[in-house]
Amino acid sequence: MSFSLSGALKSLTCAAALSCCAISFAQADTLRVGTEATFAPFEFAAEDGSLTGFDVEIMQAIGKEIGYDVEIVNMPFDGLIPAIMTAQLDAIIAAMSITPERAKRVAFSDPYYTSGLSVLIREETAAKYPKVDSLKGQPLCVQIGTTGAMTAEKLSPGKVKAFNTEPEAFMELKARGCEGVVNDRPINLYFLAQSNASEGITELPEILTAEQYGIATHLHNKELQAKINEGLAKIRANGTYDKIYQKWFKLAPTDKE
Ligand code: GLN
Repeated sequence: MSFSLSGALKSLTCAAALSCCAISFAQADTLRVGTEATFAPFEFAAEDGSLTGFDVEIMQAIGKEIGYDVEIVNMPFDGLIPAIMTAQLDAIIAAMSITPERAKRVAFSDPYYTSGLSVLIREETAAKYPKVDSLKGQPLCVQIGTTGAMTAEKLSPGKVKAFNTEPEAFMELKARGCEGVVNDRPINLYFLAQSNASEGITELPEILTAEQYGIATHLHNKELQAKINEGLAKIRANGTYDKIYQKWFKLAPTDKE
């Protein structure tokens, strides 16, 4: 085997370049966007199995404005941020709340939806739990890795059952495996209004937090973060955001920052 000094030097330079300079981001035409598709009406599987919802349509509309195709990739919620950090995904749209802890690991777009947490209980326990505080110390169900999980842990330390998906948490509440589900309010309301499985379930009349959803990208991919913000601003200005909002929430778009 012949040895080429210049070749060896080149590989060394390449290796040095790779180790010194963070991940380089592919300039593909398709954005790989991660979500966790059991979170209706933001992301869920339609009857034909295709992924749909407010987030899916917002991301596709943004992609169109900034010249990218969008491929939605379904994965567990707690796998989304690690997948951005290792550049397996370009972005996340998953009703993901912007939090200071997450903002250390990923970059967020401008907020695109204002949300908050509420608590579901079984109607049969309504007299026992008139408000959220009365649930303190009771077993609570949540989706793993969510702001709902963090809030539930404060209410009932060590007594929180975390599930991979929100529907599993709802089912456990129905099956009397816990006394409340702490979750994003728009998803709770959609479940109460749209699902037969919500019979016997009711919402406590308190909103626990003010949260804003953002689209996450790699901390160092400033270019993509800026493009997504540009696309978001455009769909807000040209009425596309409002159309999508009306379709999924059938309300005037008042809480859409
Ligand atoms: N908004 C919540 C969070 O960011 C829940 C998101 C979700 O379950 N998709 O933690």
